[in-house]
Amino acid sequence: MRAYLPDYQARSAKDLKDALKVLSGEPGLWKPLAGATDLMVLFAAGKLPRGRYLNIRGLKELRGIGVTKDFVSLGALTTYTEIRGHSVLMKEFPNLCAAARETGAIAIQNRGTIGGNIANASPAADSPPALLVYDAEIELVSSKGARWVPYAGFHLAYKKMVMRPDELIRAVRLPRRAEKFAHFYRKIGTRRAQAISKVCFSGKARLEKNGRRFLDARIAVGSVAPIPLRCLRTEAAIVSRDLDARVIANARKIFLQEISPIDDIRSTRDYRAAVAGNVFEQFIQETAGL
Ligand SMILES: Cc1cc2nc3c(=O)[nH]c(=O)nc-3n(C[C@H](O)[C@H](O)[C@H](O)COP(=O)(O)OP(=O)(O)OC[C@H]3O[C@@H](n4cnc5c(N)ncnc54)[C@H](O)[C@@H]3O)c2cc1C
Repeated sequence: MRAYLPDYQARSAKDLKDALKVLSGEPGLWKPLAGATDLMVLFAAGKLPRGRYLNIRGLKELRGIGVTKDFVSLGALTTYTEIRGHSVLMKEFPNLCAAARETGAIAIQNRGTIGGNIANASPAADSPPALLVYDAEIELVSSKGARWVPYAGFHLAYKKMVMRPDELIRAVRLPRRAEKFAHFYRKIGTRRAQAISKVCFSGKARLEKNGRRFLDARIAVGSVAPIPLRCLRTEAAIVSRDLDARVIANARKIFLQEISPIDDIRSTRDYRAAVAGNVFEQFIQETAGL
C-alpha cells in the first residue's frame, strides 16, 4: 500500500549549520534526505517510517570533488554521474567509477549520492567494496564538531553504523597512492542496468616485477555478507606466494569461508558462493596476467 503523504513532515535545511542544529535539537527524530532514490522507493511501497525528513540536497558544504596532493575528497552529495566522469578518479580509483557506471541507470546516477549509498547501508550496495579497497575515510559532522572515521569499521552489523543520529556524512576521502596497482571490479546482477547485485567484487593488486607473486592485494565484496566485507584472510593467502594452482585453490577455499552468502529474493546462497569464487579466480588471473 502506498504511504499517505500527510503522515510525513519535511523541511529543507538552509545551510550546514541549520541542518546540524535541526538534527541535534531532536536527535533521531529527523532523517536526512539527499537524492531520495532509496527513501522514495520505501515511500512508494508504504514502507518509509512515518516521521520528519530533512532535505539536505541544497547544502553546498556537502558538494564537489576536491583533489589535493594526498587525497581525493568527495562531498556526500556527489552523484554517480559526477564520479564516473571525473578524470582523477578514473585514473586512480577506477573501481569506484566502475561501481558508479553500474549503479541503477542514468536517472539514478544523476540523482543518487555517494553519502546516501553509504548511509543507506545496504549490504548489496555497489560503491562500498570499492571504498574499502581504497581505504576510504568518512567525515562525520554534528553540532559538536567533525570527526574522520575509517570506512573499514563504519558498518557494525546489518544496517548498524558508527554514525550517530545527530551526525551527517559530510565527505568521503580517498588517499592517493604512489604505487601502481592493477584494479578489478565486477558486478553480477540479473541485467546490465537497474539490477541489484547478487555479487559485487572489488580488488586491486600489485605484482612483483616480472614475477608471479603479489606484493600487495586488496579484496572487498558486497551482497555476500550482512555488511560490505574486506577479505583480509583471503588477501593474506595470495600475497608473497607463487600463484600456482594449489595456492589459488587454497585461497578460494579461504575466501568462501570468509563470505556468508544467503538465499533471498534475488539469488541463492549456492549461486552466490559459486559465482563469488569464480570472480575471485578471475581477479587473480587478470591482475597477475596468468
Ligand atoms: C531504480 C533504482 C536502482 C538502484 N540501483 C542501485 C544499484 O545498482 N546499486 C546501488 O548501490 N544502489 C542502487 N540504488 C539505490 C540508491 O540509488 C543508492 O543507494 C543511492 O546512492 C542513494 O543515495 P540518495 O542520495 O538517493 O539517498 P537517500 O534516498 O536520500 O537516502 C538514503 C539513506 O541515506 C541517508 N542519508 C543520505 N545522505 C546522507 C548524509 N549525507 N549523511 C547521513 N545520512 C544520509 C538517508 O537518511 C537515508 O537513510 C537504486 C535505487 C533505485 C530506485
